[in-house]
Amino acid sequence: MKLANRVIAWQRTHGRHDLPWQNTRDPYRVWLSEIMLQQTQVSAVIEYYQRFLKHFPDVKQLALATPEAVMAQWAGLGYYARARNLHACAKRVMTDWSGCFPQDAASLATLPGIGPSTAAAIASFCFGERAAIMDGNVKRVFARYFAVEGDPSRRATEMQLWQLARQELPSIKTCATDVEAMARYTQGQMDLGATLCTRSRPRCTECPIEKGCLARRTGRTEELPWPRERKILPERTIGMMVACQDSRVLLELRPETGIWGGLWSLPEFEATDTAEHACQTLGFQPKKVQKLSPFLHVFTHYRLTITPLLAYATANRASSDLTSSARRWIHVEQLDALGLPAPVRKLLDGLRADQLLK
Ligand code: SF4
Repeated sequence: MKLANRVIAWQRTHGRHDLPWQNTRDPYRVWLSEIMLQQTQVSAVIEYYQRFLKHFPDVKQLALATPEAVMAQWAGLGYYARARNLHACAKRVMTDWSGCFPQDAASLATLPGIGPSTAAAIASFCFGERAAIMDGNVKRVFARYFAVEGDPSRRATEMQLWQLARQELPSIKTCATDVEAMARYTQGQMDLGATLCTRSRPRCTECPIEKGCLARRTGRTEELPWPRERKILPERTIGMMVACQDSRVLLELRPETGIWGGLWSLPEFEATDTAEHACQTLGFQPKKVQKLSPFLHVFTHYRLTITPLLAYATANRASSDLTSSARRWIHVEQLDALGLPAPVRKLLDGLRADQLLK
Protein backbone atom coordinates (compact mmCIF):
# COMPACT_ATOMS: atom_id res chain seq x y z
CA MET A 1 0.00 0.00 0.00
CA LYS A 2 1.20 3.52 -0.82
CA LEU A 3 2.56 5.68 2.01
CA ALA A 4 -0.35 8.12 1.60
CA ASN A 5 -3.00 5.42 1.90
CA ARG A 6 -1.39 4.02 5.04
CA VAL A 7 -1.27 7.49 6.60
CA ILE A 8 -4.90 8.16 5.66
CA ALA A 9 -6.08 4.85 7.17
CA TRP A 10 -4.01 5.44 10.31
CA GLN A 11 -5.28 9.01 10.74
CA ARG A 12 -8.87 7.78 10.59
CA THR A 13 -8.42 5.57 13.66
CA HIS A 14 -5.37 6.89 15.50
CA GLY A 15 -4.97 10.53 14.51
CA ARG A 16 -6.08 13.62 16.38
CA HIS A 17 -9.70 14.63 15.80
CA ASP A 18 -10.67 16.91 18.64
CA LEU A 19 -8.42 19.95 18.37
CA PRO A 20 -10.48 23.15 18.39
CA TRP A 21 -9.58 23.99 14.78
CA GLN A 22 -10.52 20.57 13.42
CA ASN A 23 -13.89 19.43 12.08
CA THR A 24 -14.32 22.64 10.13
CA ARG A 25 -13.77 23.67 6.53
CA ASP A 26 -13.96 27.35 7.37
CA PRO A 27 -10.78 28.81 5.83
CA TYR A 28 -10.72 31.65 8.38
CA ARG A 29 -10.44 29.22 11.29
CA VAL A 30 -8.04 26.89 9.51
CA TRP A 31 -5.83 29.81 8.41
CA LEU A 32 -5.78 31.27 11.94
CA SER A 33 -4.77 27.94 13.47
CA GLU A 34 -2.07 27.30 10.87
CA ILE A 35 -0.49 30.71 11.47
CA MET A 36 -0.65 30.30 15.27
CA LEU A 37 0.86 26.81 15.07
CA GLN A 38 3.95 27.98 13.18
CA GLN A 39 6.91 27.42 15.54
CA THR A 40 4.46 27.06 18.45
CA GLN A 41 3.25 23.98 20.33
CA VAL A 42 -0.39 22.89 20.07
CA SER A 43 -0.80 23.13 23.86
CA ALA A 44 0.31 26.79 23.81
CA VAL A 45 -1.96 27.69 20.90
CA ILE A 46 -5.33 26.31 22.07
CA GLU A 47 -6.16 29.09 24.56
CA TYR A 48 -4.96 31.87 22.25
CA TYR A 49 -6.92 30.46 19.33
CA GLN A 50 -10.17 30.31 21.28
CA ARG A 51 -9.73 33.79 22.75
CA PHE A 52 -8.77 35.26 19.40
CA LEU A 53 -11.91 33.84 17.77
CA LYS A 54 -14.08 35.33 20.51
CA HIS A 55 -12.66 38.78 19.76
CA PHE A 56 -12.51 38.40 15.97
CA PRO A 57 -15.07 35.77 14.93
CA ASP A 58 -14.54 36.27 11.19
CA VAL A 59 -12.18 37.80 8.68
CA LYS A 60 -14.24 41.00 8.45
CA GLN A 61 -14.04 41.66 12.19
CA LEU A 62 -10.31 41.05 12.13
CA ALA A 63 -9.79 43.37 9.16
CA LEU A 64 -11.74 46.13 10.93
CA ALA A 65 -9.79 45.81 14.21
CA THR A 66 -7.06 48.26 15.23
CA PRO A 67 -3.45 46.98 15.20
CA GLU A 68 -3.38 47.45 19.01
CA ALA A 69 -6.44 45.24 19.47
CA VAL A 70 -4.89 42.49 17.32
CA MET A 71 -1.58 42.71 19.17
CA ALA A 72 -3.36 42.57 22.53
CA GLN A 73 -4.82 39.18 21.60
CA TRP A 74 -1.52 37.92 20.20
CA ALA A 75 0.81 39.15 22.93
CA GLY A 76 2.68 36.26 24.54
CA LEU A 77 2.56 33.95 21.49
CA GLY A 78 5.80 35.42 20.11
CA TYR A 79 6.98 35.92 16.52
CA TYR A 80 4.92 39.09 16.27
CA ALA A 81 5.42 39.49 12.52
CA ARG A 82 2.81 36.72 12.29
CA ALA A 83 0.20 38.94 13.94
CA ARG A 84 1.04 41.91 11.71
CA ASN A 85 0.79 39.70 8.63
CA LEU A 86 -2.43 38.15 9.92
CA HIS A 87 -4.00 41.58 10.12
CA ALA A 88 -2.64 42.61 6.71
CA CYS A 89 -3.91 39.36 5.22
CA ALA A 90 -7.44 39.86 6.62
CA LYS A 91 -7.52 43.33 5.04
CA ARG A 92 -6.36 41.93 1.69
CA VAL A 93 -9.02 39.20 1.78
CA MET A 94 -11.62 41.93 2.32
CA THR A 95 -10.34 44.28 -0.38
CA ASP A 96 -9.05 41.91 -3.08
CA TRP A 97 -11.19 38.80 -2.52
CA SER A 98 -14.54 40.30 -1.41
CA GLY A 99 -14.17 38.79 2.06
CA CYS A 100 -13.75 35.16 0.87
CA PHE A 101 -10.40 33.38 1.01
CA PRO A 102 -9.17 32.14 -2.39
CA GLN A 103 -9.70 28.42 -2.84
CA ASP A 104 -6.37 27.22 -4.23
CA ALA A 105 -2.88 27.02 -2.74
CA ALA A 106 -1.26 29.18 -5.44
CA SER A 107 -3.63 32.12 -4.81
CA LEU A 108 -3.50 31.67 -1.03
CA ALA A 109 0.30 31.88 -1.17
CA THR A 110 0.07 35.42 -2.61
CA LEU A 111 -1.47 36.70 0.65
CA PRO A 112 0.67 38.26 3.43
CA GLY A 113 2.19 35.74 5.84
CA ILE A 114 0.99 32.64 3.95
CA GLY A 115 3.92 30.53 2.76
CA PRO A 116 3.65 27.51 0.43
CA SER A 117 3.15 24.96 3.21
CA THR A 118 0.47 26.99 5.01
CA ALA A 119 -1.27 27.67 1.68
CA ALA A 120 -1.25 23.94 0.90
CA ALA A 121 -2.59 23.06 4.35
CA ILE A 122 -5.51 25.51 4.02
CA ALA A 123 -6.26 24.40 0.45
CA SER A 124 -6.24 20.71 1.35
CA PHE A 125 -8.19 21.05 4.61
CA CYS A 126 -10.85 23.38 3.24
CA PHE A 127 -11.03 22.60 -0.47
CA GLY A 128 -9.50 19.11 -0.81
CA GLU A 129 -6.68 20.27 -3.10
CA ARG A 130 -3.86 17.78 -3.70
CA ALA A 131 -1.09 19.97 -2.34
CA ALA A 132 2.03 18.98 -0.39
CA ILE A 133 2.86 20.47 3.02
CA MET A 134 6.29 20.74 4.62
CA ASP A 135 6.31 21.84 8.25
CA GLY A 136 8.84 20.76 10.89
CA ASN A 137 6.99 17.53 11.71
CA VAL A 138 6.60 16.54 8.08
CA LYS A 139 10.25 17.27 7.36
CA ARG A 140 11.22 14.85 10.11
CA VAL A 141 8.91 12.08 8.85
CA PHE A 142 10.11 12.36 5.23
CA ALA A 143 13.78 12.76 6.20
CA ARG A 144 13.54 9.48 8.11
CA TYR A 145 11.29 7.59 5.74
CA PHE A 146 13.57 8.31 2.76
CA ALA A 147 16.81 8.57 4.82
CA VAL A 148 17.46 12.07 3.49
CA GLU A 149 20.81 13.40 4.66
CA GLY A 150 21.63 17.07 5.21
CA ASP A 151 20.31 19.83 7.46
CA PRO A 152 16.58 20.17 6.56
CA SER A 153 16.76 23.92 7.14
CA ARG A 154 19.25 24.15 4.24
CA ARG A 155 17.64 24.99 0.91
CA ALA A 156 18.98 22.00 -1.04
CA THR A 157 17.75 19.50 1.58
CA GLU A 158 14.41 21.25 1.89
CA MET A 159 13.91 21.17 -1.88
CA GLN A 160 14.62 17.44 -1.89
CA LEU A 161 12.02 16.92 0.85
CA TRP A 162 9.44 19.02 -1.02
CA GLN A 163 9.97 16.91 -4.11
CA LEU A 164 9.43 13.69 -2.14
CA ALA A 165 6.33 15.14 -0.46
CA ARG A 166 4.82 16.00 -3.87
CA GLN A 167 5.69 12.57 -5.23
CA GLU A 168 3.92 10.85 -2.31
CA LEU A 169 0.61 12.76 -2.52
CA PRO A 170 -2.44 10.46 -2.60
CA SER A 171 -3.43 9.43 -6.10
CA ILE A 172 -6.24 11.21 -7.93
CA LYS A 173 -8.17 7.94 -7.72
CA THR A 174 -7.88 7.85 -3.91
CA CYS A 175 -9.04 11.47 -3.70
CA ALA A 176 -11.89 10.84 -6.11
CA THR A 177 -13.27 7.90 -4.12
CA ASP A 178 -12.71 9.48 -0.71
CA VAL A 179 -13.54 13.18 -0.66
CA GLU A 180 -11.99 13.57 2.79
CA ALA A 181 -8.77 11.84 1.73
CA MET A 182 -6.62 14.87 1.08
CA ALA A 183 -7.57 16.66 4.31
CA ARG A 184 -7.02 13.42 6.21
CA TYR A 185 -3.61 12.87 4.60
CA THR A 186 -2.49 16.42 5.50
CA GLN A 187 -3.69 15.97 9.07
CA GLY A 188 -2.17 12.47 9.21
CA GLN A 189 1.31 13.68 8.30
CA MET A 190 1.10 16.32 11.02
CA ASP A 191 -0.22 13.83 13.57
CA LEU A 192 2.40 11.23 12.72
CA GLY A 193 5.22 13.71 13.26
CA ALA A 194 3.69 15.08 16.45
CA THR A 195 2.73 11.81 18.13
CA LEU A 196 4.83 8.87 16.78
CA CYS A 197 7.74 10.11 14.71
CA THR A 198 8.92 12.42 17.47
CA ARG A 199 12.34 14.03 17.60
CA SER A 200 13.68 11.58 20.16
CA ARG A 201 12.63 7.97 20.67
CA PRO A 202 10.11 7.63 17.81
CA ARG A 203 7.49 4.93 18.42
CA CYS A 204 8.28 2.99 15.26
CA THR A 205 6.49 -0.23 16.25
CA GLU A 206 3.17 1.67 16.22
CA CYS A 207 3.93 3.52 12.99
CA PRO A 208 1.77 2.81 9.92
CA ILE A 209 4.71 3.34 7.54
CA GLU A 210 7.30 1.36 9.51
CA LYS A 211 7.76 -1.24 6.77
CA GLY A 212 8.90 1.25 4.15
CA CYS A 213 10.90 3.49 6.47
CA LEU A 214 14.59 3.53 5.52
CA ALA A 215 15.78 5.08 8.78
CA ARG A 216 13.98 2.35 10.73
CA ARG A 217 15.34 -0.42 8.51
CA THR A 218 18.90 0.82 8.79
CA GLY A 219 18.79 1.76 12.49
CA ARG A 220 19.26 5.47 11.83
CA THR A 221 16.18 6.97 13.47
CA GLU A 222 18.27 8.80 16.09
CA GLU A 223 20.65 10.14 13.46
CA LEU A 224 18.03 11.46 11.01
CA PRO A 225 17.10 14.14 10.29
CA TRP A 226 20.43 15.85 10.67
CA PRO A 227 20.36 18.43 13.46
CA ARG A 228 20.23 22.09 12.57
CA GLU A 229 23.68 23.63 12.38
CA ARG A 230 24.27 25.35 15.67
CA LYS A 231 24.93 29.06 15.57
CA ILE A 232 26.40 30.98 18.46
CA LEU A 233 23.84 33.68 19.11
CA PRO A 234 25.09 37.24 19.50
CA GLU A 235 24.55 38.85 22.92
CA ARG A 236 22.90 42.22 23.50
CA THR A 237 22.17 44.09 26.70
CA ILE A 238 19.71 46.93 27.25
CA GLY A 239 18.22 48.81 30.17
CA MET A 240 14.46 49.11 30.61
CA MET A 241 12.86 51.87 32.61
CA VAL A 242 9.85 51.03 34.76
CA ALA A 243 8.72 54.60 35.47
CA CYS A 244 5.76 54.76 37.88
CA GLN A 245 3.55 57.48 39.17
CA ASP A 246 0.13 57.23 40.85
CA SER A 247 -0.26 53.52 39.98
CA ARG A 248 0.52 54.29 36.37
CA VAL A 249 3.43 53.00 34.30
CA LEU A 250 5.08 54.75 31.39
CA LEU A 251 4.85 52.64 28.22
CA GLU A 252 5.73 53.32 24.62
CA LEU A 253 4.29 51.92 21.44
CA ARG A 254 7.00 50.24 19.40
CA PRO A 255 7.27 50.90 15.67
CA GLU A 256 5.35 48.50 13.41
CA THR A 257 8.49 46.82 12.10
CA GLY A 258 11.28 45.18 14.09
CA ILE A 259 11.35 43.31 17.38
CA TRP A 260 8.04 43.47 19.28
CA GLY A 261 6.65 45.66 16.48
CA GLY A 262 3.27 47.19 17.32
CA LEU A 263 3.41 46.15 20.99
CA TRP A 264 3.51 48.41 24.04
CA SER A 265 6.82 48.15 25.87
CA LEU A 266 8.94 49.89 28.49
CA PRO A 267 11.24 52.74 27.41
CA GLU A 268 14.77 51.47 26.81
CA PHE A 269 18.17 52.98 27.56
CA GLU A 270 21.80 52.01 27.08
CA ALA A 271 22.73 49.32 29.59
CA THR A 272 25.97 51.20 30.34
CA ASP A 273 24.05 54.35 31.35
CA THR A 274 23.93 55.35 35.00
CA ALA A 275 20.48 55.45 36.58
CA GLU A 276 20.74 59.24 36.73
CA HIS A 277 21.56 59.60 33.07
CA ALA A 278 18.85 57.13 32.03
CA CYS A 279 16.23 59.17 33.92
CA GLN A 280 17.60 62.39 32.46
CA THR A 281 17.41 60.99 28.93
CA LEU A 282 13.77 60.22 29.55
CA GLY A 283 13.36 63.76 30.89
CA PHE A 284 12.56 63.39 34.57
CA GLN A 285 14.01 63.56 38.07
CA PRO A 286 12.73 60.56 39.98
CA LYS A 287 11.86 60.64 43.67
CA LYS A 288 13.43 57.23 44.11
CA VAL A 289 15.25 54.74 41.85
CA GLN A 290 15.74 51.03 42.43
CA LYS A 291 17.90 48.68 40.37
CA LEU A 292 16.23 45.33 39.65
CA SER A 293 17.92 42.03 38.82
CA PRO A 294 18.89 41.61 35.16
CA PHE A 295 17.24 38.75 33.25
CA LEU A 296 17.74 36.99 29.94
CA HIS A 297 15.34 36.74 26.99
CA VAL A 298 16.36 34.54 24.07
CA PHE A 299 15.22 35.36 20.52
CA THR A 300 15.90 33.03 17.60
CA HIS A 301 18.69 35.29 16.37
CA TYR A 302 20.16 36.82 19.54
CA ARG A 303 20.20 36.73 23.34
CA LEU A 304 19.01 39.84 25.12
CA THR A 305 19.94 40.66 28.71
CA ILE A 306 17.53 43.21 30.18
CA THR A 307 18.51 45.34 33.17
CA PRO A 308 15.39 46.99 34.59
CA LEU A 309 15.33 50.16 36.65
CA LEU A 310 12.32 51.01 38.79
CA ALA A 311 11.85 54.78 39.13
CA TYR A 312 9.07 56.66 40.89
CA ALA A 313 8.42 59.88 39.03
CA THR A 314 7.22 63.11 40.61
CA ALA A 315 3.59 63.92 39.79
CA ASN A 316 3.97 67.23 37.95
CA ARG A 317 6.77 66.08 35.60
CA ALA A 318 5.29 62.69 35.09
CA SER A 319 2.02 63.77 33.61
CA SER A 320 3.35 66.42 31.27
CA ASP A 321 6.87 66.11 29.85
CA LEU A 322 7.06 62.37 29.54
CA THR A 323 4.01 61.87 27.37
CA SER A 324 4.71 61.89 23.64
CA SER A 325 2.64 60.53 20.79
CA ALA A 326 4.23 57.09 21.22
CA ARG A 327 4.31 57.18 25.06
CA ARG A 328 1.45 56.88 27.47
CA TRP A 329 0.98 56.63 31.22
CA ILE A 330 -1.08 53.49 31.63
CA HIS A 331 -2.88 52.58 34.82
CA VAL A 332 -1.76 49.20 36.17
CA GLU A 333 -5.36 47.95 35.99
CA GLN A 334 -5.28 48.44 32.20
CA LEU A 335 -2.10 46.46 31.58
CA ASP A 336 -3.96 43.18 31.06
CA ALA A 337 -5.78 44.57 28.04
CA LEU A 338 -2.60 45.64 26.25
CA GLY A 339 -0.31 43.73 23.93
CA LEU A 340 2.99 43.56 25.82
CA PRO A 341 6.09 41.49 24.93
CA ALA A 342 6.26 38.35 27.10
CA PRO A 343 9.34 39.41 29.15
CA VAL A 344 7.84 42.87 29.81
CA ARG A 345 4.56 41.31 30.87
CA LYS A 346 6.44 38.96 33.22
CA LEU A 347 8.45 41.81 34.72
CA LEU A 348 5.40 44.04 35.28
CA ASP A 349 3.30 41.16 36.66
CA GLY A 350 6.07 40.39 39.16
CA LEU A 351 6.29 44.03 40.27
CA ARG A 352 2.51 44.20 40.57
CA ALA A 353 2.44 41.05 42.68
CA ASP A 354 5.07 42.62 44.95
CA GLN A 355 2.98 45.82 45.04
CA LEU A 356 5.86 47.89 43.70
CA LEU A 357 3.92 49.62 40.91
CA LYS A 358 2.55 52.56 42.84
S1 SF4 B 1 9.08 4.02 11.32
FE1 SF4 B 1 9.78 5.31 12.98
S2 SF4 B 1 11.24 6.69 12.06
FE2 SF4 B 1 10.09 5.77 10.40
S3 SF4 B 1 8.46 7.24 10.01
FE3 SF4 B 1 7.67 5.73 11.44
S4 SF4 B 1 8.03 6.57 13.48
FE4 SF4 B 1 9.28 7.72 12.01
